[in-house]
This record gives sequence, C-alpha cells and structure tokens, in this order.
Amino acid sequence: MSATETCIKVVCRFRPLNRSEVARGDKYIPKFQGDDCVSISVSGKPYYFDRVFQSNTTQEQFYNAVAQKIVRDVLEGYNGTIFAYGQTSSGKTHTMEGNLHDPELMGVIPRIVQDIFNYIYSMDQNLEFHIKVSYFEVYLDKIKDLLDVTKTNLSVHEDKNRVPYVKGCTERFVCSPNEVMEAIEDGKNNRSVAVTNMNEHSSRSHSIFLINIKQENTQTGHKLTGKLYLVDLAGSEKVGKTGAEGTVLDEAKMINKSLSSLGIVISALAEGSSYVPYRDSKMTRILQDSLGGNCRTTMVICCSPSSFNDAETRTTLQFGQRAK
Ligand code: ADP
Ligand code: MG
Repeated sequence: MSATETCIKVVCRFRPLNRSEVARGDKYIPKFQGDDCVSISVSGKPYYFDRVFQSNTTQEQFYNAVAQKIVRDVLEGYNGTIFAYGQTSSGKTHTMEGNLHDPELMGVIPRIVQDIFNYIYSMDQNLEFHIKVSYFEVYLDKIKDLLDVTKTNLSVHEDKNRVPYVKGCTERFVCSPNEVMEAIEDGKNNRSVAVTNMNEHSSRSHSIFLINIKQENTQTGHKLTGKLYLVDLAGSEKVGKTGAEGTVLDEAKMINKSLSSLGIVISALAEGSSYVPYRDSKMTRILQDSLGGNCRTTMVICCSPSSFNDAETRTTLQFGQRAK
C-alpha cells in the first residue's frame, strides 16, 4: 500500500424522508448513479465516494459493507476510527447506535460488539482477551467522562511512546456484549443528566466510544493490541449568523473549528501529506494514533434527502469530497 493509499474511506448515506417532511410536501432530492456517486438537484454536480448508500439501505447491509472489515483488522492489531458526520437529524446516531436492542435496527456499535465477542468465543483457549471501553464527550472543547460524571474536564496527555490519550478517563473492563451495552446505556444516561434538552445537547457535542482490545497467547506469550474509536460528531449545520450570542455562539465556533480541523486532518492524510495538523483540535489530538497511517479510518457522511435541507446537504457532500 502506498502512502497515498492509506486506508481512509469516505462513504455517504442518505436517510429516507421522514413523515413530517412528506407531510410538508418536501421533494426527495438525491439522484444515485451506480453505487459510488450521488447528485442533488439544482446544480446536479456529481459527488463521488467510496460507496454511496441509498435511503433503503438496512442497518445490516450498511454494517456488512462498511464496518465488518474494520473489526477484523482491529482484532488483528490495527487501530481504527469510524466517524459519523452530518447535520442534526441526518442519521448519525441511527448509523452509529441505532436501536441498541432491536436486532434489525441496531447500528454499527452494537454490531461491532457482537462481532468482537463472536470472534473471541470462536478462538482457541490459548488466547486471552482483555477488553475495555471508555465513553466520553467533547463539548466546548472540554472532555467529559460519560462513565464517571465527576470527571468533567479531562485533559489529553501523551504516554511514554508519545501516544496521546485522555488522562484519567474511566476504562471499564467488559466480558460480554451485555456488559458493553450496559456501559453504553450508563454513558447515555449520564450524558442526558444536567442538560435540559438532550437532542440539542447531542447536536452540539461529539461523543466518542472507545473499544480497546488486548490479546495474549498464553503459550507463546505473543501480544496484540488494537483499538477502535467510534465517533458521533456534533451537527455540522451552520448556526444562523444573526442572533447567536453567548454560549450558542461559543458552541458554534467550537463546533466549526473542530469539524474543520478534522476535515483538514483527514484530507492531509488522504493526500499522504507529510504534515498533518493533529494538534489543531482536541479531537484530532485524541484520535491521532487511530487516524491514517496504518489505521483504518472511515468517515460516514450522513445526509437528509429533503429539498428543505438542500443547502446543508450540499455543504455536507462538499465536506465529504474534500476529505477524499
Ligand atoms: P442525528 O444523530 O444525525 O441527529 P438521527 O440518527 O437521530 O440523526 O436521525 C434522526 C431521525 O431519523 C431518527 O428518528 C432516526 O431514527 C431516523 N433515521 C435516521 N436515519 C435513518 C435511516 N437510514 N432509516 C430510517 N430512519 C432513519
Ligand atoms: Mg444524534
């Protein structure tokens, strides 16, 4: 694999029109060509991705096409990151989490968890697995531990190998898919405590779920570590220029800054550029050793199909193109 061929993939997923959009008479704007190209009305400019998923794509189809391979690689000792990017209500959380307890509607994270444990159960007895998870959010550039509400402002440090990590963040050891699901539920509950409107809050903060897998062969002593970051990004919509002040304006500035830094890092990696500005934002610093290089990185560009969101969708598609 050459430097310019690092494992960075950008895929695009359109959700269906929802009931209120249909009731309002919104038009369905995407036009799909093959399985890697989409255009939206007005300009009709084609946008190319590694894959484009139409509105009727099931959670299972999406998982098999996008995430399954990354899980295999992480179990072989690679690091990886999957991001969901898009405006609020474009399907980021549906894609990453979905309905955690519905086998058909569960998203990427619960499927990954199942896959990891199925793999472990299928391996021979000489392999010992240690799996731990962390769950935190980045809000107004502050890192908050979602598994321990007392930790509200964690900082990024580097370990002795100069690998950045969130210092003091809870690492919960888990032994079964159920224990991982419990960790996710705990984190989600903690996240909603102390916020008045969870939807609004989740559209202004990034949530990051980390799965860390250590394997040791008890006969040979051979060790392998892989970690996977699963990131549900803050909504990418532009906050209206007028009227935004105080916290809302601070939030908007932070979100724009962190998302644009992420875009710049991804495109620098995709181009094989020798300088990658990881340090420009907290999130790219945290993810540094799980982006580009030898890592598996996938950006999922989530889009609304409604004519009502046409300007945001265009901006979203452009962001995804730049990352390619
Ligand atoms: P976001 O996290 O980007 O704000 P959500 O994932 O919460 O958006 O999606 C908004 C709504 O649309 C939710 O009710 C979700 O269930 C629904 N939805 C999103 N994507 C799909 C999809 N691909 N198929 C069916 N419903 C979807
Ligand atoms: Mg969401």
